[in-house]
Amino acid sequence: MGILAMKPFAGGALDNAELCFKFLRRFPDVIPIPGFDAIEQVDQVVAIYRNKNEVLPEDLEAMERYRAELGQRFCRRCEYCQPCEQGVMITAAMGYPIVVARMSAEKAAALVGPAMESVRNCTQCGECLKRCPYDLPIPELLQKHLALYDRHRVGA
Ligand code: SF4
Ligand code: SF4
Repeated sequence: MGILAMKPFAGGALDNAELCFKFLRRFPDVIPIPGFDAIEQVDQVVAIYRNKNEVLPEDLEAMERYRAELGQRFCRRCEYCQPCEQGVMITAAMGYPIVVARMSAEKAAALVGPAMESVRNCTQCGECLKRCPYDLPIPELLQKHLALYDRHRVGA
């Protein structure tokens, strides 16, 4: 039986498409179904598939580095935890550190600002915890991300 691999870029947490596909192509029964937001990304993946898959020792090292960096506590953006009765935009707020890694802190704070502000409404009720298939400590992580956001806000 084949496997459809959703979110081969870990919901945006992984920014090296070539490396992601090098990893996935080692498993012939796995068919990745990535989401794209630009034509160039489609071209990039098609170009990867034109070549034989060659995984070099430095690729394996990079894969291990990503694995260690991400650990087990990153959000896959599946959205099963939502909705939150307090209106907390959980998924967007959970991804704040990933956005910060892609742009300046000020830009990230402006872009994800509404989601981060919604975290202030969290009552720590724990309802979202029961719905996360990855057992992420959502309220704890949200508070951590909020503290990071507060350090990044302009004028904060
Ligand atoms: S713990 Fe916070 S984010 Fe989770 S459902 Fe309750 S209020 Fe919403
Ligand atoms: S259920 Fe868990 S992994 Fe899925 S979006 Fe919510 S926090 Fe992220």
